[in-house]
Amino acid sequence: MAPLEKGVLGKGLAIAETLRLNEHVNAEQKIKVARFLDLGIAALKSGYRNALYDYHFSDDPAPSSAAGKKTGCSAADIAAEIVSCSGCRLGKTRNRAVPGEGSEHPLVLVLGEGPGAEEDATGRPFVGPAGQLLDRMLASICLFREKNCFIANTVKCRPPGNRDPEFQEIRACAPFLIRQIEVLKPRLILAVGKVAANRLLHAGPGQNGDEESPPEPIGRLRGRFFDFAFPGSRGDSYPLSSAGDSGIRILATYHPSALLRDDSLKIPVFEDLKKLMLRLAALDEGYRQESRALMAKYAAKDPVFAAGAEEFLS
Ligand code: SF4
Repeated sequence: MAPLEKGVLGKGLAIAETLRLNEHVNAEQKIKVARFLDLGIAALKSGYRNALYDYHFSDDPAPSSAAGKKTGCSAADIAAEIVSCSGCRLGKTRNRAVPGEGSEHPLVLVLGEGPGAEEDATGRPFVGPAGQLLDRMLASICLFREKNCFIANTVKCRPPGNRDPEFQEIRACAPFLIRQIEVLKPRLILAVGKVAANRLLHAGPGQNGDEESPPEPIGRLRGRFFDFAFPGSRGDSYPLSSAGDSGIRILATYHPSALLRDDSLKIPVFEDLKKLMLRLAALDEGYRQESRALMAKYAAKDPVFAAGAEEFLS
């Protein structure tokens, strides 16, 4: 670690310790400061500087009679922070940040890689040809972005030329993703593509501080359920430790843009989606009822699926 980063980290830890011992600062405020420090360190490591950026602080209003009532944080609050974020260099080249959209109480969080050209122009996720295919994929198992899904990306701003987001950019944007997962509380996360899958499964670049480690191929990660773990108790935003069971499961599959390039991937993706369907049916009674007719249709054609769906169809 460079001397500058060591110095910042040391000061950050000292501030964190002061906050930890200060009974007048509540947990929510401490978490905000810790996230701010995380972003600062990430910005230093990626070499990001913006002389125009300035911070404006004002005193909090005196506690009202509703003291202790949490102000809360919604997906819309996080989106408002994202659209004004300049936490990594993608903030300089984007047209519009893309926080994500969908239900505020989703069954499934669908997580992609980063915005493309159409998303960058509109500020909405998955609106190009790959997005239209994603909508059809989801509809095939009774999932809809406006009803029971939230659709977002690992990084919220478009990498120039549609390149993969870099390690530093993913790390800088990670706190937004973690907060979205905290607030949305999905039952399951569908990671489409290797970037999202590696990010959520703590695989690939950045693990154990090794930025050179290659990402796990999506072909090795897809089709299996994993547990999602929130950041460790030390407050690290990246790499994530495997502290605690969040109760949220992850399923990875191919990105829809890969399906547009290679038709043969549609078969394994549909197999993955049917696994997701069975898992959701086991988790949620409402979904089980809504998807019953489709399940029966798939069961009639697929004996393996029929065996899995038997308990939901009887
Ligand atoms: S990609 Fe994320 S961290 Fe970077 S500028 Fe956009 S919102 Fe901020």
